[in-house]
Amino acid sequence: MILSFVEHESGVPDELSLESLTMAREIATGTGEPLEAAVLGAEGGALADELGPYGVEEVHHVVHDRLDGEGYAPQAWGESIAQLAADLDAGTVTGPSTDRGHEVLAHAGATLDAPMATNCTAVDVDNGAYELERNRWGGSLIEHARLEGEPTLVTAAEHEYPVEEADAAVEPAVSEFSPSLPDTAFAVQLDRVETSDEEGIALGEARVVVGGGRGVGNPDDYDQLETLADLLDGTVGASRAAVNEGWRPHDDQIGQTGAKISPDIYIACGISGAIQHMVGCKGAENILAINTDPEAAIIQKADYAVIGDLHDVVPALNEELEERS
Ligand SMILES: Cc1cc2nc3c(=O)[nH]c(=O)nc-3n(C[C@H](O)[C@H](O)[C@H](O)COP(=O)(O)OP(=O)(O)OC[C@H]3O[C@@H](n4cnc5c(N)ncnc54)[C@H](O)[C@@H]3O)c2cc1C
Repeated sequence: MILSFVEHESGVPDELSLESLTMAREIATGTGEPLEAAVLGAEGGALADELGPYGVEEVHHVVHDRLDGEGYAPQAWGESIAQLAADLDAGTVTGPSTDRGHEVLAHAGATLDAPMATNCTAVDVDNGAYELERNRWGGSLIEHARLEGEPTLVTAAEHEYPVEEADAAVEPAVSEFSPSLPDTAFAVQLDRVETSDEEGIALGEARVVVGGGRGVGNPDDYDQLETLADLLDGTVGASRAAVNEGWRPHDDQIGQTGAKISPDIYIACGISGAIQHMVGCKGAENILAINTDPEAAIIQKADYAVIGDLHDVVPALNEELEERS
């Protein structure tokens, strides 16, 4: 059977978990095995109605007083999934490509001494052997891999599998599973959650993003970029170099280790276009680069380019836009 780890917020499954269910269902259809789900947390049992449309035949609610009552503990969650997978004799364990999905499955894989692959874009199972394609370096490299071992643990790459309902909805059975968890499994535990006090349009949803890199030169000159973003109803992002300089908060970082953006237009100011930055903005419909260096990598990748000093170009753009508004 295929066991899918589903993350949820108060009983509502998260989108990447639903994407990973599409991958899990494809594997289940190919191997002819049933698709079942593992959910943790107090409201997990309420997920049965939510998961039936996605072809989940049974929802296993993992219950333990410390899992329900205390903060997220990666090793305890991983142990729980490992024990459930062993109990059910699961051939495959799938999960979402969230930080938590990767962390929980990695712990489960280590406990089970089983192979694991993250960010999969294609999974083919033939006689228990897994032929996989997976994104590396944020999708700038595709790896072909072959994994053998049971269970095999895989996470679905973000936005590679659409959220799709099954041809026929089922009414899943609900069962409870109580893992045995030693104190040591709670050695690392979530203590508190801090929400960002950033206001305005979220980077991932903005239709216009104005990015600033090391070429901006100092934190104060981001004011010009903020003005440009405001005039275009957009928001400001940054390269890792700018974040490392302390000019912008990490929330603003675009790239492999930052936000993935998909605006109608990305205006990259004083950004060289390193591969790790480009994997974060490759979803942009159009890229306009403003750079003093005509040889900068981003100029090759941009749809439009202005070769010039951003400290001249951006204020001029703002002036023109203000006149037109
Ligand atoms: C594992 C790993 C993960 C990483 N993840 C990320 C990531 O998520 N996001 C990310 O951005 N980077 C990431 N990086 C860093 C990345 O490799 C680059 O170092 C970084 O993107 C460079 O930032 P930059 O383009 O702002 O700076 P630089 O490379 O220093 O480029 C500055 C650019 O500004 C131009 N310029 C200078 N002055 C002006 C001016 N007055 N007007 C106009 N143009 C000007 C220059 O010509 C140059 O092209 C990662 C690196 C590693 C190793």
